[in-house]
Amino acid sequence: MDFQLSEDHLTTQKWVHEFAEREIRPVAPAYDEAEEFPWPVLKKAAEIGLYGLEFYMETLAADPTGLMFPICLEETCWGCAGISLGIWGSGLPLATLAYSGTQEQLTTWAPLMFGTVDDPKIGALCVTEPNAGSDVSALRTMARRDGDSWVLNGQKIFTTNGGIASVHVVVATVDHDLGHPGQAAFIVGPGTPGLRQGKKERKLGIRASHTAEVLLEDCRIPLENVVGGVDKLEAKMERARAKGPPGRSDALKTFEVTRPSVAAQAVGIARAAFEFARDYAKDRTAFGRPIIENQGIAFKLADMALEIDAARLLTYRAAWLSRNGTFEHAEGSMSKLKAGETAVWVTEQAIQILGGYGYIKDFPVEKWYRDAKIYTIFEGTSEIQRIVISRALAR
Ligand SMILES: Cc1cc2nc3c(=O)[nH]c(=O)nc-3n(C[C@H](O)[C@H](O)[C@H](O)COP(=O)(O)OP(=O)(O)OC[C@H]3O[C@@H](n4cnc5c(N)ncnc54)[C@H](O)[C@@H]3O)c2cc1C
Repeated sequence: MDFQLSEDHLTTQKWVHEFAEREIRPVAPAYDEAEEFPWPVLKKAAEIGLYGLEFYMETLAADPTGLMFPICLEETCWGCAGISLGIWGSGLPLATLAYSGTQEQLTTWAPLMFGTVDDPKIGALCVTEPNAGSDVSALRTMARRDGDSWVLNGQKIFTTNGGIASVHVVVATVDHDLGHPGQAAFIVGPGTPGLRQGKKERKLGIRASHTAEVLLEDCRIPLENVVGGVDKLEAKMERARAKGPPGRSDALKTFEVTRPSVAAQAVGIARAAFEFARDYAKDRTAFGRPIIENQGIAFKLADMALEIDAARLLTYRAAWLSRNGTFEHAEGSMSKLKAGETAVWVTEQAIQILGGYGYIKDFPVEKWYRDAKIYTIFEGTSEIQRIVISRALAR
């Protein structure tokens, strides 16, 4: 493993950072206040080639080290995590197609998910339900086979881009008795009758990101829209009925590979708060000297820098392994757990360093604190990551 960034990495990092500085940071407070999806920023990202399927395929997926994606995510999240989720949120349904779908499904649906430079689109991955969050095996949304179609019925909640996406990938149960092997992911294309947005959530942080309920009412889709194909699903269910080794759900497989990407987002927020607090501590005087000259403040900053570096290194290791090996010791979960908890801790320390100014909305630190919290919750809570890590230790 070599984490020396290449020329290519450094050039791309600078390019994304400049975009974040120019187009994301300045508008972040307004989107946070308005809780609106950042379509204009997405369009600008598409215009420079940062948003779009080509960037995923030609720059991110083509990087043999796996580091390019976390590098880019850290920079956009340094700008604003909510807006950044608008730019990268489609990566989750894309990953489901890429890792569990057929080549034909990827070729057909991924371009529709991203749209064009003039008319960018987004995708959504709908897993969570009112009574099934961490426990994905409890999903109740049903996919019933009816001739040449699947008919989907159920209620999804907390879906990023839910209802405003052009392509929704919906995880549903075909045979509830089989648990995970009885589940599959289904592709619901643009404008399919029977899928609609329900309640749009109002949130503590990442407020530029759209989070909503997705309602499926007799939503009919072609048979071939099951991710991976009908034959693969039937074989998986047949094995389960014959009490073969239990398979893993497509949703869980997707979360495993996307964890380092989520970790990188949290690192970006933590770095933003750290840099701001460090500069503030150099400027702000109390008792006749800059507050950074107090060991109590300087040590806090030292620990913040240390934790961010540790989180980034775990993230880079997991990203590298996801491309060049496998997660033998839950390295993906370790990166997500460490980075999420670091972001919450670092942003809280940053507020403390700013004192009263940290708590008010004239300064960006309180927003980073609110934005950070979701990273200990979505795509597997901190408790679930600890379960995954401890199970790996017990193997
Ligand atoms: C802003 C936002 C965006 C989201 N985006 C998406 C999305 O795009 N797609 C999607 O499908 N979902 C999405 N989610 C859902 C998110 O992934 C879930 O909220 C998360 O997985 C937790 O599920 P839950 O809320 O049902 O909590 P629960 O599973 O009910 O957990 C409640 C608490 O119990 C703990 N707990 C549960 N089981 C155990 C256990 N065995 N041992 C110890 N502790 C346990 C949890 O860690 C947590 O602290 C999003 C959520 C939010 C808030």
